[in-house]
Amino acid sequence: MRCDTCKKEVDEVMRVVVNKGYDRALARPMYNCRECFEKKEQTKRYNQAQTKDKP
Ligand SMILES: [Zn+2]
Repeated sequence: MRCDTCKKEVDEVMRVVVNKGYDRALARPMYNCRECFEKKEQTKRYNQAQTKDKP
C-alpha cells in the first residue's frame, strides 16, 4: 500500500482520519506509513494543546 503523505510504498499503513472540525469535507480517511502516522499524531497532540486555551 502507499502512504498518502509521503507517497512511499510501504508494507503497513495506518488509517488516519483527518478531522479539521470546521470543515467536514476535510475529514477524510488517509493511509499513512508509520513514520507519517507518528508525525501526524504529534501534530494532533500539539494542536489540541494549542487550542485548549482558546475560547
Ligand atoms: Zn509516509
